[in-house]
Amino acid sequence: MSDILVVAIDGPAGAGKSTVGRAVAARLDLEYLDTGAMYRGVTFGVLRRGLDPSDVTSVARVAAAIDIRLDGERLTVDGVDATIEIRGREVTSAVSAVAANSSVRTELVRRQREWVAARGGAVVEGRDIGSVVFPDASLKLYVTASPRVRAERRVADIGGDVKEVEASIIERDRKDSTRDDSPLTEASGSIVVDTSGFSINEVVEHILGMLPHDQG
Ligand code: C5P
Repeated sequence: MSDILVVAIDGPAGAGKSTVGRAVAARLDLEYLDTGAMYRGVTFGVLRRGLDPSDVTSVARVAAAIDIRLDGERLTVDGVDATIEIRGREVTSAVSAVAANSSVRTELVRRQREWVAARGGAVVEGRDIGSVVFPDASLKLYVTASPRVRAERRVADIGGDVKEVEASIIERDRKDSTRDDSPLTEASGSIVVDTSGFSINEVVEHILGMLPHDQG
């Protein structure tokens, strides 16, 4: 893995990882992988089958068999376009339970490594990219912002009530950072980037400046 360019971006919900990651990928002419969309895709498949997201055995079976395709921001699950639904409240509130399932994680990590190897490198975003999926990534970033700033950004994007969104963000952070398998954490060797108070462009330039000159 060390001979290909992989930029690992981890951090809590709504910190700006996707916007920043997509922009960095475009500037480096690299593919971009949103691993959260894959966990959301499995969750969509689980709910569509009428299963309980915390039913470990059934959910593991779904993850092993499900067909998930990512094409830019479009995501299809078993041939059904789920791009909009995976961002909805139902999937968002069930995804942490699905992501805490170790069999789901093993399967998706395998697919993520394959996806990146087939493309010869990528900017990869998630919670465990620098710690588990690509511990030898060329650059490991932990992108964060205060819960209030994250909630305000999400409301500006998709609407809602700032206090409610902030509470749901704090709750998802808590679940993601306290689970047993691959909890959200600052990976060793990762650089913390706090995006509160900075524009996307400022953050992108800051990150590009961290890459070795022949890659940036
Ligand atoms: O990034 P996003 O907020 O879309 O991720 C949705 C959920 O997927 C997270 O709250 C987390 O539970 C899970 N996730 C994960 N590991 C990743 C990416 C996402 O556990 N690498």
